[in-house]
Amino acid sequence: MRKIMAVLLAITVCFLTASVHAQEKVVMYAMDGREITVPASDVEAYRKVGWYDDIAAVTTIMYATDGRQTRVFVGEKEEYKNVGWFENIGDVTRKMYAADGRQITVFLDEIQAYRDVGWYDNLSDVTRTMYAADGRQITVFIGDMPAYRNVGWYDNLSDVTKTMYSMDGRKIMVYLADVEAFRNVGWYDSFEDVSAVMYALDGREIRVLKRDVEAYKAVGWYDDVNAVSKLMYSMDGRQLRVLHSEVEAYKAVGWYETKPYAVDPSKPMLALTFDDGPKAATTKLVLDALEQNGARATFFVLGSNAKGNTEILERMVKLGCQIGNHSYGHPDLKTLSDANVAYQIDQTEEIVKKAVGFEPSVVRPPYGSYSSSIMSIAEKPFILWSVDTLDWKYRDAEYVKNYVLEHAYDGAIILMHDIHATTAEAMKSLIPELIARGYQLVTVDELAMHKGHILTAGKAYSQFR
Ligand code: ZN
Repeated sequence: MRKIMAVLLAITVCFLTASVHAQEKVVMYAMDGREITVPASDVEAYRKVGWYDDIAAVTTIMYATDGRQTRVFVGEKEEYKNVGWFENIGDVTRKMYAADGRQITVFLDEIQAYRDVGWYDNLSDVTRTMYAADGRQITVFIGDMPAYRNVGWYDNLSDVTKTMYSMDGRKIMVYLADVEAFRNVGWYDSFEDVSAVMYALDGREIRVLKRDVEAYKAVGWYDDVNAVSKLMYSMDGRQLRVLHSEVEAYKAVGWYETKPYAVDPSKPMLALTFDDGPKAATTKLVLDALEQNGARATFFVLGSNAKGNTEILERMVKLGCQIGNHSYGHPDLKTLSDANVAYQIDQTEEIVKKAVGFEPSVVRPPYGSYSSSIMSIAEKPFILWSVDTLDWKYRDAEYVKNYVLEHAYDGAIILMHDIHATTAEAMKSLIPELIARGYQLVTVDELAMHKGHILTAGKAYSQFR
């Protein structure tokens, strides 16, 4: 270094000298840094043997990574390279990039300092690819992304594309702008559009292409969930889908096939029950009174009367009423053979099931007359009563009404007959009066459940407390 400084000083001095004695002497230079002063007339001769009269021809600028520059003789270049100098400024500098698109060239030693204030080494560090719905792509500076977003560009390819599906199971990725065109040639937006869930009786589910549905049906699968299962309901408002094969098991632990009505279990409730119907003219009036007051009751029907009265049975179910089995022809079951008991029960079950889709879940034996063998034949819980109005004997609406009001209590099962016009007439005022006195008028099933009983086949119940 000391040597080069001396050379430069010499160059300066000679330049001054040359300007004074230009006519007589010329300083000439060699690649290795030597210099001589020759007469102007000898310059041409010296040039031919490797001397130069322009110092720039024998020197070059070299660069350091910290930004220093120095002029050295060409003959010294290798020596300088060995101690960390470089021939080209490009060797000691690098381009850096800012997120807003600015670029600068910095010396290598400054890179870390620039990084610390938000500059980046690579263009890819400060740019991103953005996507348009029609498939175009552009590279933008990160700082410009919000502006591009505002004019309809998106950050991710997934923002401007969607997967589409064909009926034969293929899928493709298309730009949003092309979706409509693909729809027009038989592609669908979702896999759900080209497939269907199928169900097995044992509860398995699979999703298959729609074109395969018929083939699956042929081997025991169903495309309707209701074909293998149904919704069941609990008194506390839960719903559960259960396999048809499980319905009976769920009923046994307090689940219902129809949605139970809202009942406040902390408030009084009782069950109005009507036997021996239905009878079109009078049962209709009882149902009218129940419907007008949002109340429900249980109808223990005779099979012989249920036959041909499908509409009335359907209305009972629609109003949330319960249908019980009161035998087919109202015999004293104790006087019948086992086969005839079974006939009385089964016939009525079939008629009701044909009318409303399900059979009665409870039995009331005519005259309250039953035995353990009758119960085992019926295979249903037996429902008796705790308040007997004797409405069949006292055919007087006012009497029936007053009798019920006097004997009503929380948990009672009240026995009446919907075949008598006087009883039907009494309901018009009795039902709203019971409600006014705080009673919830519920079905037998509801009363049992809210009072904490699970109705069991082979048992008889006359009230729920
Ligand atoms: Zn009866």
